[in-house]
Amino acid sequence: MSQKKPKLGQNFLTDPSARRRIVEALGDISSSTVLEIGPGRGALTDLLAARAQDLIAVELDRALAPRLTEIWKSSGHVAILQADILELDLATVRAVTGIGGDAPLVVVGNLPYYITSDILLRLFAQTASISRAVVMVQEEVADRLAATWGTSAYGLLSATAQMHGRVEKLFALPPEAFSPAPSVSSAVVRLDMHPRFEELRVERIAFLRFLQMCFRQKRKTLVNNLKSAGVAETVDVLAAIEETGLSAAVRAEAVSLESMAAIYRRLYSNCGKHEKTGDSLAG
Ligand code: SAM
Repeated sequence: MSQKKPKLGQNFLTDPSARRRIVEALGDISSSTVLEIGPGRGALTDLLAARAQDLIAVELDRALAPRLTEIWKSSGHVAILQADILELDLATVRAVTGIGGDAPLVVVGNLPYYITSDILLRLFAQTASISRAVVMVQEEVADRLAATWGTSAYGLLSATAQMHGRVEKLFALPPEAFSPAPSVSSAVVRLDMHPRFEELRVERIAFLRFLQMCFRQKRKTLVNNLKSAGVAETVDVLAAIEETGLSAAVRAEAVSLESMAAIYRRLYSNCGKHEKTGDSLAG
C-alpha cells in the first residue's frame, strides 16, 4: 500500500544522534546568527538555541509556528518567524526579527523535500548573506550536489551548486530516522559558500542559463545541446569547444567548471548576448 505524503514535507527527525551530528556539522556557532529552515516540532531547535549566539527559525506551518513561539517567547536570542522560506529576503531577516549580528548567516535545516531545489536555488541566489549551510536532503540529491565532474552523478545541480560553494556529503540516514518515515534515504550536506563567478570571469545569471543549456539533455553531446538551444545561430559552438581542448563528442558531465567557463567566455565575450535565466535545476 502506498504511503500518503505528509503535508509540507513533514517528516520529523527522531534520531537523537543525527540531531547532534547535524548541529555539530555547523562548527562553532557561538558568535553566529543561525537561520533554521522548517523547525517543525523543534528537533534541532533546542540544540541550536543552546549553541548559537542568535537563532531565527522560519516555519511555514500555521499550527507549528505558534507552538514554537510560545516555547521561546521569553528567550531574547530566539525568534520564530511564521513565513515561507521561499519568500524570505535573508539580507533583511535580522531587521525584521530584531535579532542577530552583522556577519553572514549560518543556515541549517532538515529540508521539506517537495521544495528542495527551490530552497537551494534561493540560498544560492543569496550567498552574500550566508557563510555556510548544513542541510538534510534526499540522499540522491546529496550525491548529485557533491558529485565530481566526469562521474555519472554529475549534472546541472552539481555544477550550479559548485559554482556557489564547496559541497561535502557528510552522512546518510535511513528512512527510520524520521517519523513518518519518508520513502527514500536522506543525507546531510555541508555547503561552504564561496561563489566562483568572479574567479572564472563569468556573469552569474547568464552563466547559470548557459549551464542549463549545456545540461539540457543528458544523453546529448555538449555541442548538440548548445545547438538545439539556438547558440549555433550566433557563433561556432564546435570551435569554442575544441579550442578549450575538448573533443566534439564531449558531454557536459565530462567538462570541468573551468572549461565550461572558458567555452562560455569564448562564445559570449564578443556578441554580448546574455540570456536571462529562469531559475530551474531540471534537465
Ligand atoms: N526540523 C524538523 C525536524 O527535523 O524534525 C522538521 C523537518 S520537516 C522535514 C520540514 C519542515 O519544513 C516542516 O516543519 C514543514 O512544515 C516546514 N516547511 C515546509 N515548507 C516550508 C516553507 N516553504 N517555508 C518554511 N518551512 C517550511
